[in-house]
Amino acid sequence: MGLFSDMEKFGLKNFKDAKVIDKDKPVDVDIAKLKPKAPEKNETDALFTKHYTCPVCDLKFVTRSIRAGRVKLLEKDIDLRPIYDIADPLKYDVITCDKCGYSSLSRYFGKISTRQMKELKESVGNNFKGIDNDKEVYTYDDAIERHKLALICSIVKNAKNGERAYTCLKLAWVIRGKRNTMDSKDPAFKELYLEEMECIKNAYDGFMLAISREPFPIAGMDENTLKYIMADMARKLKRYDESAKLLGSVITSKTTNNRLKEEALKLKEMLKSELKNNAGN
Ligand SMILES: [Zn+2]
Repeated sequence: MGLFSDMEKFGLKNFKDAKVIDKDKPVDVDIAKLKPKAPEKNETDALFTKHYTCPVCDLKFVTRSIRAGRVKLLEKDIDLRPIYDIADPLKYDVITCDKCGYSSLSRYFGKISTRQMKELKESVGNNFKGIDNDKEVYTYDDAIERHKLALICSIVKNAKNGERAYTCLKLAWVIRGKRNTMDSKDPAFKELYLEEMECIKNAYDGFMLAISREPFPIAGMDENTLKYIMADMARKLKRYDESAKLLGSVITSKTTNNRLKEEALKLKEMLKSELKNNAGN
């Protein structure tokens, strides 16, 4: 099952086999654990309605957005996915035009060229069947759909690998957010896990291309932070040598701050014990 096989309901049926990262294609450089407690409860307190004008179809639309300061950071996963108290802001990080389907992570919203606008109109806008932006809260399923729309738009507009990879990473994180609300014995849990890993693989491949071709910061991350996150992706993908190499680079870098260095050392220990366990099998 492809990542986009369920996107036909939005009228987008040509993306079933779309490649997120095309490693063989030259890069176009001319354009710029804690289970959340009842995730939807009290979530409305942290939300407000934000107004936008769509850069593709020029229509005004509204979307739900997180009010800064209303949510408290509780902790982070090993790959730095943040976990908050009353609402998961990650669910609200994609802005979607409900008229034409143009979607992107808030960081990239509106930054499109005339050529990209034309491509988005032709490939997404002309087929898009609409989406309900006016829901009281967005569920994890809503968030997963919105992130997939953002990923499709990043492919259509031929975005840099860094943007595609980051969108994949954020999609992996909302999928994990949903997974963490489920019983691990639920058959859908395993399916979601596999989907999350597919996103992580695409994100890893995309970031690997991005670090050799794009200037830092990439997706707002400096070199050490991105390499740390990639080291954990490589560990999850069982590419242990690559993970160790990335971690080595983070640990020995003179510019890594102490907190990240501590995290990197923790991850190195984790990697060691995984290697040991694998050798024992
Ligand atoms: Zn639009």
